[in-house]
Amino acid sequence: MANATNDRRKFMVKTVQSIGLATMGGLLWSGFAIEAEGSPLVLRPPGALPEEDFRQACIKCGLCAEACHNRESNIDKETGEQREGTIKMAKGGEEALIGTPFFVPRDVPCYMCDDIPCVPVCPSGALDMPSLLNEKGELDINKATMGLAVVHKESCIAFWGLQCDACYRACPLLDEAITLEYTQNERTGKHALLLPVVHSDICTGCGLCEKACVTEKPAIFVLPREYATGRVGDHYVKGWDKRDQQRAGLRKADEIETQTKRSEEKPVDYLNKEIEY
Ligand code: SF4
Ligand code: SF4
Ligand code: SF4
Repeated sequence: MANATNDRRKFMVKTVQSIGLATMGGLLWSGFAIEAEGSPLVLRPPGALPEEDFRQACIKCGLCAEACHNRESNIDKETGEQREGTIKMAKGGEEALIGTPFFVPRDVPCYMCDDIPCVPVCPSGALDMPSLLNEKGELDINKATMGLAVVHKESCIAFWGLQCDACYRACPLLDEAITLEYTQNERTGKHALLLPVVHSDICTGCGLCEKACVTEKPAIFVLPREYATGRVGDHYVKGWDKRDQQRAGLRKADEIETQTKRSEEKPVDYLNKEIEY
C-alpha cells in the first residue's frame, strides 16, 4: 500500500514538474518572442518609414548608426574625442527589434544635424530621404517626425509653480515646437506659472528636451507619434477652417443658400398672412 502511495506521489511530482517545466518553457519562449519582436515604442532615426514598413525595409546594415557616430559634429571640441552616437543598433535584451537602429533620447538625443548624415547612406530606403526634402528640394531636418514630446504635468515642476525652463531652452525649435504658456498660480494666487507646451505640428521628436529635463525620470519625454497622438475621426469638421470644409466636401455656412417657400417672401408678409407651412 505504502509503495502504491509512493508511486502515486512520484507520478504526481513528475506530472507537476513537467507541467511546471512546460509553463516555464512557455513563459521563456513568450519572453523570447517579445524580445525578438521588439517593442513598438522605440524611436527610429529621421526619415524612418512607418514602423511596420521600416521593419521590412531595413536590412540591418548599420550604416546610419555609423554615419551618426562618425559625423564631425560628434567630436568633443574640448577633448577631441568621438562621443557616443545617437543611433544604436539593437542587441538582444534591448527594446528594439534586434539589429535595427533606434535611439534613446535620455541617453543620447538626436542633435538634428543640418546635413542629416544618417539618411543619405541608407541603401534600402528604410530611411526615406524624399520625406525630408523641403520645397527647395533640400534636406531639411525640421521635417523629421521621429516622435512627439509629451509633458506629464504631475511630475513637471513648472506645473508645481517652481521656476524651470530647461526643456524649453534645450529645444532647437524654441518658441515653435515648444512654448511657455503664462498663467496664474491658483495655489498662491499671486505668482505666475510658465508652463511648457509642445506643438505637435512642429516637434520633430529629437528628444533634446527629454535629455535636458531636470526631474529624476523625465517629465517630458518622446513617444512614437502613433502612440502620442489621438484622432478625432473624419466626421468632425472644423466649421471655421476652409481646408477642413473642403476635405469634408462642405461649403462654408455663409456660402450655402437655402431656398424654401417661406424664403421667397418678405418676413413681414408671411407673419401677417399667418400662413402655415
Ligand atoms: S540627424 Fe540625429 S540621428 Fe541623424 S546623424 Fe544627426 S544626430 Fe544622428
Ligand atoms: S542604413 Fe538603412 S538599412 Fe541600414 S540599418 Fe540604417 S535604416 Fe537599416
Ligand atoms: S522633442 Fe523636444 S526638443 Fe525636440 S523639437 Fe520636440 S519639443 Fe523641441
